[in-house]
Amino acid sequence: MTKIISKDIHCALCGASHAQHLIASTSTFGTPDLDGRPAGMARSTLTHWVQECPNCGYCAAELSKAHPSARALVQSDSYRALCSDMSAPALATRFLRAALVSEAAGDLSGAGDARLHAAWVADDAGAEQLASQWRSDAADALLASPGATREAGDWRGWQAACVVDILRRAGRAVQARQHAERILDGGASVLVTQVLRFQLAALASGDRLRHTVDQALGRPEAAPGRRTLGDPLLEYLQQNHGQLLTQAERKAMWMDTVQTQEGPRWLTDDPAVLSLLTEGKAGLGRAIEQRLRAELAGELVINRCPKCGALARTSKARQCRQCPHTWRDSPV
Ligand SMILES: [Zn+2]
Ligand SMILES: [Zn+2]
Repeated sequence: MTKIISKDIHCALCGASHAQHLIASTSTFGTPDLDGRPAGMARSTLTHWVQECPNCGYCAAELSKAHPSARALVQSDSYRALCSDMSAPALATRFLRAALVSEAAGDLSGAGDARLHAAWVADDAGAEQLASQWRSDAADALLASPGATREAGDWRGWQAACVVDILRRAGRAVQARQHAERILDGGASVLVTQVLRFQLAALASGDRLRHTVDQALGRPEAAPGRRTLGDPLLEYLQQNHGQLLTQAERKAMWMDTVQTQEGPRWLTDDPAVLSLLTEGKAGLGRAIEQRLRAELAGELVINRCPKCGALARTSKARQCRQCPHTWRDSPV
């Protein structure tokens, strides 16, 4: 669910107070687009990512804050021109003004993000040319931005990989390819490496369309609430002893494999998770059961049919799912 609240905010530049809408909470199901645009409900919260002062035209993620450079900027001709620009969607011109504000403050990464968000507005409006132009501008800002954050773990290289997508969708295929190869040479996670190989294939075929991480990994779009663990012991452990599982065990339970050039691989670089999955999901279930048995001594109850050994659905079930046996009278 997305929850939007209304709050009076004082503009840091002119002092005027106006009601602004803020996102209290939102949710995403599924993986983002390859340029980082989130899936699910978060996707449509874009209208609330930038605030505009109706009095002076100042645009920023937070109107109550302003860099010293902002005051002169909002009075500049280029800024005023955007305030009255009717040729582009109003929300997009708000993002473009926020981009100018970030640029003036020396925040190129913020400026690149704001220009990309303007491109998303153009996508939604079906304004392809504007979307392409603003993606190109976003890529320039992001490429010039020093010290981009270095993500760790399974998403290592992700932000740089988003720039590859931005370049591809802006029609700058040569630079997109070079940038992708640079990231691959520098070392990216399994996940991001797969994304970049997908990008290289898309670039080779002249594809400039929108794609999601799920598509790049070759897996079906995630349907919320539909995923199952696919292993009876893991299902049982999660349902009955979920609170006893470690973070690595939980992550390993839900881990997918991906088809790579070197054959199938787990979609993680996390050594703790990889070691739990050495013998696959069935081995993971056995390892968790063994750990819980050792740690809980006699307290762990794994409810198996006394006759055939099949797992029951829950710890309280007294009926086998595999054979006709029931054990209603016997204490477990
Ligand atoms: Zn103002
Ligand atoms: Zn049985």
